[in-house]
Amino acid sequence: MTVPPYDYDLFVIGGGSGGVRAARLAAQSGARVAIAEEYRMGGTCVIRGCVPKKLMVYASGYAKALKLSAGYGFDVGPVRYDHARFMAALREEVTRLSGIYRKGQTGAGVTVIDERAEFLDAHTLQLASGARATAAKILIATGGRPWRPSETDMPGASLALVSDDVFDLDELPKRMVIHGGGFIAVEFAHVFAGLGSEVTLVFRKDRVLTGFDEDVRSDVMENLANAGVRLVPNAVIKTIQSSGADFRAQLSQGAAVEADRVLLALGRHPYTEGLGLARASVAADTSGAVIVDAYSRTNVPHIWAVGDVTNRINLTPVAIREGHAFAETEFYGKPWAFDHADVPMAVFSQPEVGVVGLSEADARAAHGEIDIYRTRFRPMKNMLNGNPTRTMMKLVVRASDQRVLGVHIVGEDAAEMIQLAAIAVKMGATKDDFDRTCALHPTAAEELVTLRTKV
Ligand code: FAD
Repeated sequence: MTVPPYDYDLFVIGGGSGGVRAARLAAQSGARVAIAEEYRMGGTCVIRGCVPKKLMVYASGYAKALKLSAGYGFDVGPVRYDHARFMAALREEVTRLSGIYRKGQTGAGVTVIDERAEFLDAHTLQLASGARATAAKILIATGGRPWRPSETDMPGASLALVSDDVFDLDELPKRMVIHGGGFIAVEFAHVFAGLGSEVTLVFRKDRVLTGFDEDVRSDVMENLANAGVRLVPNAVIKTIQSSGADFRAQLSQGAAVEADRVLLALGRHPYTEGLGLARASVAADTSGAVIVDAYSRTNVPHIWAVGDVTNRINLTPVAIREGHAFAETEFYGKPWAFDHADVPMAVFSQPEVGVVGLSEADARAAHGEIDIYRTRFRPMKNMLNGNPTRTMMKLVVRASDQRVLGVHIVGEDAAEMIQLAAIAVKMGATKDDFDRTCALHPTAAEELVTLRTKV
């Protein structure tokens, strides 16, 4: 009997969205697969990202719905919200899901290693316990981590929370300062404002959500203000000081802001620190992201990387598809590369943002003449409840052939709508295809197929 030269056919570092998909599929092909996870199975999405975040969005949505229900005849009376009780339920759900991910792995025959793994050389992993494992192929799926400025760059930065810590808060801060203008900052600003915190959002640019369509950005700014979030644009936090239970964030301009908690949501970095990439001769860029080609291959022929650690599009479904493509290519003889075009995206602000394809500015830069169709309206639901929030829908259309290049929605259920609009955009639908589609009444989404006038 010949002894295989390596302990495993595939070793996956990181039990998050990309890693678990790749490991499970590879194992189901009959390969000997191990997956190492240093924290909790399921990764960022399940443990400290999409899932617990969305549960918090739902919680704050209840607070809003209770307030607005008066317009529909409800007399709710005084409402008490118990943050600790909600967070306990949230953690229980996260633990349940993490268990499902673990079962998915073991059920497929993957060896789950609950510890950190680092490269010792290009085929050998050093485990935190001191054990070692060798593998013919290795997949790096270590994800990303919230970025925190150094104490030199922002004295007191270590006193602040990052997004990971939000899920450990048992007490709702009365006053919260959030620093950042990206989707995570915007989502948490709405969550905490909805739950009853006084939220100040400090961001470097004049508007939040850099990179999104300008109409989306301005509507989101308006909605943040409507939600009671105090907006401080064109500013950064210089220092954070603590005095007892309080924190004081000194801004680059204007007065300092006092708060019970400061949350830094200043972006995420690929998590390759200490991974020993150099010992395996794996190339990374200056941000630490592993450099890969369309097939997620690194410069080392038997090492691949998927998900946030490659810093392509940092979303769960993208990491999953990249992991899936890797596994089918390498273990099923079905080579394919994930197409990163027209990936739908959401911001779970309140109301939501749903986007697929190009912004107006990007479409003009890439395609020249562009037709814009846009509507802003007060949705029927808000007619009786006093909610001033409007819905915005926008189609970005290439003038030459009427192909819809981008769909942008800010409004209730925008994320649900955009998932379906993304099918049409991915299929290359034209404005005429949208027009030929019969409306479904009464919905907000019907506006998407009744946009007749160019703006
Ligand atoms: P991860 O899920 O981060 O998994 C990497 C895993 O590797 C981690 O579990 C980590 O502990 C482990 N690990 C790292 N190094 C080692 C090592 N050396 N040894 C062993 N284990 C290691 N995406 C969406 O699509 N929709 C959303 O609504 C959304 N909301 C988000 C909200 C927040 C607050 C955050 C932070 C992220 C959100 N994301 C969202 C992004 C999404 O979570 C990530 O894109 C996704 O989790 C990336 O998957 P991944 O497999 O690349 O990495």
